[in-house]
Amino acid sequence: MQKVLCLLYHRIHPVRDDIYHLTVSPKHFEEQIKYLKNHFPIFRFEEDWAEKREDGVVITFDDGYEDNYEYALPILEKYKAPATVFVATGYVDGKQEYWWDELARVLTGNREYPRQFDLQDSLYHYTWETDSYEKRIDLVKSLHWLLRMESEVERANSWITQLRSWAGISPEGRRENLPMNREQLHELSSSQYITIGGHTVNHRSLGAKSLESQQYEIGASVKYLERELGKEIEVFSYPFGSRMHFNQNTFEACRRHGIKKAASTLRGVWKIGCNPYIVPRMEVKDCSGEDFSKSVWQFWRYDG
Ligand SMILES: [Zn+2]
Repeated sequence: MQKVLCLLYHRIHPVRDDIYHLTVSPKHFEEQIKYLKNHFPIFRFEEDWAEKREDGVVITFDDGYEDNYEYALPILEKYKAPATVFVATGYVDGKQEYWWDELARVLTGNREYPRQFDLQDSLYHYTWETDSYEKRIDLVKSLHWLLRMESEVERANSWITQLRSWAGISPEGRRENLPMNREQLHELSSSQYITIGGHTVNHRSLGAKSLESQQYEIGASVKYLERELGKEIEVFSYPFGSRMHFNQNTFEACRRHGIKKAASTLRGVWKIGCNPYIVPRMEVKDCSGEDFSKSVWQFWRYDG
């Protein structure tokens, strides 16, 4: 019975100071793609894998960073390797970083900070000490959790605005961390090797939301992409993607908006009979082609 190993990337960039470890360097990415190309058939995410006669791998990217266009696309085209890019559409064409990068930008800079941060909110009354780097990293982690789970987007955005003015930092994001703009999205989509999929509008946990707001997050991101690109969008990936971040309502909303297959971040290998709305993946680390080949083989052996 054949298996498909679906790989999860986020960012391909030479600057790797992100505290979330989402970035793979272009050099390592090229080594990894070269290895894949030499050892496996590379399928597309949207294909019917049950019809394949052999094992294969699939390449996916979450979020829609500009670096997918700038650094990943030339390498994918050079090796004729197809990939799917799942885009959080609320960030396309913006000058602001994704909210998790914004937390890092505001709180981990090399500058003077006030000694504490009080969250001004009608529901939450929290105070964090912020007089050391370690304490500010703890604040990043706490706010990451709150922002991930908060179902009211405007309320969550107001916390970020609050944090920015507390730190005295402008809203303009760092160039290397920006999401794609519309032209880049179009160019990426017009490559014969790229499939575009949805990844919600605001990038919050779907599992924490009502059916109605899941419908919005899924439907509006799909409609935006279909309108922009003039193609049907049939694939999706769930922000954060572990068990708590999707549920039966998510599958229902996906089906209603024409999504035929969706990616999670559950670890594992796809096999015939897997739920098409819970495709497991392997998150790829920033490592050489040789180390990557070892982790791929270990994954096949233990999770396959
Ligand atoms: Zn994501």
